Amino acid sequence: MAKKEGMRWNLDEILPAKKFDELWKEIEQDISKYDFFLPKFSPEMDRDGFVAFMKFDEKIIEKLARLGGMPCLWESTDQKSQEAKLLKSKAEDLVLRFSNKTRKISLWLQGKEIDGFVRLDDKNAERLFKTLPALQYGMMYSRKLARHTLLENEEKIITEKDMTGAGVLVDLRELIETEFCFKFKPKGKKEKIFNNAAELLKHVYSKNANEREAACNSLLEKYKENIDKFFMVYQAIVKDWRYDYERRGYESAIQVRNIGNHVPDKAIEVLLDVCRTNRDVYQRYFRFKAKELGMKRLRRHDIYAPLKIAKDEKISYEESKKLVLSTFDEFSKGFGEKARRIINDRHIDSHPRQNKRGGAFCLTLMPSIAPYVLLNYTHTARDVSTMAHELGHGIHSLYAAHLPMAAQHANLPLSETASTFGEMVVFEKMLEKAKNDKVRKAMLSDKMADSFATILRQAYFVMFEKKAHEAVRKGITAEQLSGLYMEMLKEQFGDSVDISPIYRYEWARIPHIVATPFYCYAYNFGELLSMALFARYKKEGVGFVPKIEKVLSYGGSEDPDKGLKEIGVDMCSREFWEGSFEIVRGWQEKLEQY
Ligand SMILES: [Zn+2]
Repeated sequence: MAKKEGMRWNLDEILPAKKFDELWKEIEQDISKYDFFLPKFSPEMDRDGFVAFMKFDEKIIEKLARLGGMPCLWESTDQKSQEAKLLKSKAEDLVLRFSNKTRKISLWLQGKEIDGFVRLDDKNAERLFKTLPALQYGMMYSRKLARHTLLENEEKIITEKDMTGAGVLVDLRELIETEFCFKFKPKGKKEKIFNNAAELLKHVYSKNANEREAACNSLLEKYKENIDKFFMVYQAIVKDWRYDYERRGYESAIQVRNIGNHVPDKAIEVLLDVCRTNRDVYQRYFRFKAKELGMKRLRRHDIYAPLKIAKDEKISYEESKKLVLSTFDEFSKGFGEKARRIINDRHIDSHPRQNKRGGAFCLTLMPSIAPYVLLNYTHTARDVSTMAHELGHGIHSLYAAHLPMAAQHANLPLSETASTFGEMVVFEKMLEKAKNDKVRKAMLSDKMADSFATILRQAYFVMFEKKAHEAVRKGITAEQLSGLYMEMLKEQFGDSVDISPIYRYEWARIPHIVATPFYCYAYNFGELLSMALFARYKKEGVGFVPKIEKVLSYGGSEDPDKGLKEIGVDMCSREFWEGSFEIVRGWQEKLEQY
């Protein structure tokens, strides 16, 4: 860009770098003051004493967030900065000391038996927690989670054994992967060797079908060659997961994840089933895409192929900012105001540059400081969506800025509400304003492909995992497990896509399936929930906006299920989730009109 545009963020509001040492020392002294509070903890302690402690605790946590947040954000824009790394590691040391000091109190609050203390029973816990209504839900919930923890010594043994057991298996799996060399040879071209998957994966989005095919085959060939090793690792992880959850008193393998995510089991069951029964909308998209690309049927490696219709239009950063802000203003005054605050406080780092990390995120440190947003703006329509999405996260935090720090963040089910709303309203505005139908068609096609990847594909990963965990319990071979995966692919794509046999080994390359079982639904849960809410907004109109704002202002202080019920939404009902697919169907129908 000839003219300078965009913005770098100002971190001084968190902590000027030269004040780091001073604050470090201050916190070090604060930590020693916990000794003063320790003897006061008993089930009968008075409410004023409890409130005084919680206020003291919050102040220190805020200071720690400043101390750790500043170098973290700094490092994300300059990954080579030795100074940022040094400060980050100094802050981490102090956080460790802090958690060692406060561990006993946290465990006591969770209702655990602690040496030298009388256990905090439910009745007294409620009596004390009621003094801080905003924290009550979170604190009671952590007591619920704590019921699944074991005795202190048992936990210690598990942690140690995990370090040399399951933890090593996950690392070993990664090590096998990083040693892969990929032979990339599209038909009629010379062979190239890639040493890492990222280089190879770029060709999955290539305009050239031979390149896409060669990239996919070359990648999966490696997993096929090593399938016995990947299976051995996976089988052990699955068994470990089972021994662990059974001992901890969970009812099912997936329940561990659901409880951690504040999601009722039933909601996930219904969600997965609704995804499954709506798979035809994506199949319809793939058939449409085949026609667009002049093919009878897509092959699996064609599904992310670009449509050859429109050149990407460049959108300047200023234009994008204007569009996002005016669209937010139209949707709700609160959205517009809050987004402006983030921008006016200079809390955005907008453009890519050397040593800055990729991607985008929004970081909320505490209620008194507006959230920070990192972007890598490159002037595409997708970047405008990302800006709306990340500002949405920031807006959400600002709606909840009246709460104490520990309750500001929404829990998983609602964590994508404002971001998805922001993205949706801006996407609709961009469609409306697009120069012509060709641009609209390209935008909608990208939207369908993206939503397939984040919604249906992830849902099928989780459905596969449910079956895989069951199958491992009964006993299964590597080939049988791969066969199970293939069956799920066939169901997912129906007859809309040809799937070559090598795809049966694809499961082995999905790291989350091994490292964090059942995590994949988290990718789509929040988004789908917000899309379903968006569908309600489309039906009810502006009257729905204050309801959404109310839910946003709960942050993490309210049970998500209860908060949603207050605005007439039941996340365990099929009908509610169907709403999100009405939106997806709407995109596909529009796409077919162009
Ligand atoms: Zn998000």
